[in-house]
Amino acid sequence: MTDRYTRLVNGPLKSLVKTLGLPNPVPLRRFPDGAYLSEPVLVLGPGSAADTYAQILLDNGFEVRRKPTSEKLQAVLAFFDEATSPTDLSETALEVGGSLRGLVRSSRVIVFSRDGHIVPERPAAMDPALNATRNGALGLMRSLAHEMRGGGTVNGIVVSDGVPMDAPSAVSTLWFLLSSKSAYVSGQPVHVTTADGDPVSAEAFAGRHLDGRLAVVTGAARGIGAAIAQTLARDGATVVGVDVPQAGDDLARTMNGIGGTALQLDITAEDAGATIAERVGAPIDVLVHNAGITRDKMLANMDAARWDSVIAVNIASQLRMNAQLTESNAWGSAPRVVSLASTSGIAGNRGQTNYAASKAGVIGMVAAGAQPFAAQGGTINAVAPGFIETEMTAKMPTLTREVARRVASLQQGGLPVDVAETIAFLSAGAAGGISGTTLRVCGQNLVGA
Ligand code: NAD
Repeated sequence: MTDRYTRLVNGPLKSLVKTLGLPNPVPLRRFPDGAYLSEPVLVLGPGSAADTYAQILLDNGFEVRRKPTSEKLQAVLAFFDEATSPTDLSETALEVGGSLRGLVRSSRVIVFSRDGHIVPERPAAMDPALNATRNGALGLMRSLAHEMRGGGTVNGIVVSDGVPMDAPSAVSTLWFLLSSKSAYVSGQPVHVTTADGDPVSAEAFAGRHLDGRLAVVTGAARGIGAAIAQTLARDGATVVGVDVPQAGDDLARTMNGIGGTALQLDITAEDAGATIAERVGAPIDVLVHNAGITRDKMLANMDAARWDSVIAVNIASQLRMNAQLTESNAWGSAPRVVSLASTSGIAGNRGQTNYAASKAGVIGMVAAGAQPFAAQGGTINAVAPGFIETEMTAKMPTLTREVARRVASLQQGGLPVDVAETIAFLSAGAAGGISGTTLRVCGQNLVGA
């Protein structure tokens, strides 16, 4: 689980790596280290939303510049929300380009735009030039993310038409993306589709913003699940951790460490949802479907046991639990459900047809589940990790593991806490306007991990 290459290139081999032009991953700034940096934020672009955000930043104690400057910067915010023709992108895009050399290490570029449609759900409803412009802003965002250095990231905040650009979830997304909690998120759009959600300040977002909420985390004994449980508890939630009886000792250790409750349960049991509702005995505010397994084989060699077990744990159990918790009236007033997908479910991965089917299934489940959950004032989203340093990925062959680490824009694997921070962000009251989406936590990995 140690990335020896990253340690070497930031130590004795630093100059050799530069000379040979080898991958040069830098240690990322992670929370609680410098939640926000002290340098000014440059806000670029015409229109009222840029002015509004400049004021929001000032009100939250940031130094703000509205014109390109030679000063060092922690971030550049680029507003394209009023652009209607592809030619409208150029002025702000080129100003962003001219400001990049002023960015400090672990800096941020955040692109604000309105929603386009690349899936032809309403093909006739949108002007082609407008759609080209909006999709163009995301193309810029993704490409610039590949060009960043020094642990810098580029992400987008995409707000649906009819929703104010400064909706609570758009502002909370800004705090997430600006902060060190999003260290391993790059090249990703975050879609804000409603004005729901409780406003949150930058300071509150860096504090116990989940105070008073009850969270259930499956697969919490180890790895990413343990990090999720610890992060939600750090942010103020009371956590119930679920895992199989065989992992009972690890589960007890993790839960004792955070003052949480351990619940030994196999989530593939027919009545797992009803059991959770009964044993938790209080309204569930947050449910994180983290438990997951891999049983890799090429499809030509796949047997029914491998295929069926992966589908059973990774997706079928989640659908059944959600339905049983709804039947049992177990949800709190604005529940947040976050499920673990994978970049394998987006890009596909050799030897993982069963796993990719289950994880693409998760993405489909949350996209279709947004409306039923909204009826209860809730949201349902997925997080798709790329290559994360865990016991699971430590077992990969050395060469495959090295390639998986370096093909990301950030040129390294993520840590379980990177996934956990993203889940904590989506679990908050402030994220009420984000639902049905899948957010990748992959360092902008080019392939499915
Ligand atoms: P892990 O194997 O380290 O931990 C998974 C946990 O789930 C274990 O504690 C296990 O006991 C528990 N679990 C398995 N089956 C269960 C069942 N039937 N009932 C209850 N608990 C069960 O895995 P991880 O690497 O921490 O991955 C966590 C999640 O993230 C999984 O859904 C995985 O698919 C996903 N993911 C991981 C990576 C990565 O790089 N590690 C990448 C993409 C997605």
